[in-house]
Amino acid sequence: MPLTKEQIIDALRTVNDPELHKDLVTLNMVKSVAVDGSAVDLTIELTTPACPLKDQIRHDIEKAVHAKAASVGERLSRIDIDFTADVRSAQDRVAGKENPLPGVRNIIAVGAGKGGVGKSTVAVNLAVGLARFGARVGLLDGDIYGPSMPTMLGLNAAEVKARNNLIQPFAAHGIVAMTIGVLVEPEKPLIWRGPMAHGAFKQLATQTEWGELDYLIIDLPPGTGDVPLTLAQMLPVTGAVIVCTPQRVAQDDARRAVRMFQQLGVPILGVVENMSYFICEHGSEYDIFGRGGAEVMAQEMNLPFLGSVPITPALRLNSDAGNPTANFDPPGPLADALNKVVQNLAAQVSMATMRNVVAQPTMSIT
Ligand code: ADP
Repeated sequence: MPLTKEQIIDALRTVNDPELHKDLVTLNMVKSVAVDGSAVDLTIELTTPACPLKDQIRHDIEKAVHAKAASVGERLSRIDIDFTADVRSAQDRVAGKENPLPGVRNIIAVGAGKGGVGKSTVAVNLAVGLARFGARVGLLDGDIYGPSMPTMLGLNAAEVKARNNLIQPFAAHGIVAMTIGVLVEPEKPLIWRGPMAHGAFKQLATQTEWGELDYLIIDLPPGTGDVPLTLAQMLPVTGAVIVCTPQRVAQDDARRAVRMFQQLGVPILGVVENMSYFICEHGSEYDIFGRGGAEVMAQEMNLPFLGSVPITPALRLNSDAGNPTANFDPPGPLADALNKVVQNLAAQVSMATMRNVVAQPTMSIT
């Protein structure tokens, strides 16, 4: 007798999402089950299109369904699994107030203890990388002191447009982006006092027409200033990514940034080690700054480690040329390293969603 739909669902109850530690049925990930004789078709909805564990989930499903068939004396000719994705939202309210960006499912802040560690580079590549997996992604350049997105995304000649009192974001490299860099004169030094920084950031974040997004990546200014505080008070932040280079001095500053986010009630989604090592043109790897330093820091602070990005001249050249897509295409060690960080982040966001973490500030502006 062919397997019944119920028997297949029973089998899927024994398959856990490896990171969310709950079974696919409980997680409401089983979207359709069809049996035609000895052929089974399934649709499984993942919590992110950038899921790093898709192959493992496929393997576990096949194993469980084949085992179920064997237990009733059946042999299946095939199991086809169609993976879709629906990114869930971690929370929709902030500190008891209405969410000003209800169309944005997850807000991810990218911070660093100090400048020059590659925070903006990582933010751009996280955004572009998530979009390449099929997610809807926005990028907000909140680095009001040194906006670098116009250069990194090649927006310099782009014109700012507004509609219904909302600024239109720029579309580039599969993402939508907004930066204060296009609203000010490029050569003019930006000197912001706290309240001005607060106001400018708030305006950019809430008066941009973001539309429906799975992920909004926010590149924060380095250090522990006013903007992260504004962010945590104003928007329901899913969590923060900390970018750090391997050296001891960089780690000390990164620790301070971690503590600041924790104080603000913003969970840390993970640490990225940038400029981790250098790969020469012959493929040899050189440890310049003490590879692994940021990973050890993450372990010591009990934080997820999202991966390492090597020092790669092409990364700098592509950033200067405003072409982050070239970091992923053609494939190679740089694309592999970036995709790993992107997928690990997506997994951490999914886990934060399941924990239903609510980021609420514990400090207030006076
Ligand atoms: P931050 O935002 O932390 O100030 P940026 O992202 O602006 O730092 O990076 C500083 C400079 O270092 C930029 O020129 C960038 O292209 C370069 N850079 C960043 N990460 C790497 C890397 N892994 N390999 C090569 N160059 C990098």
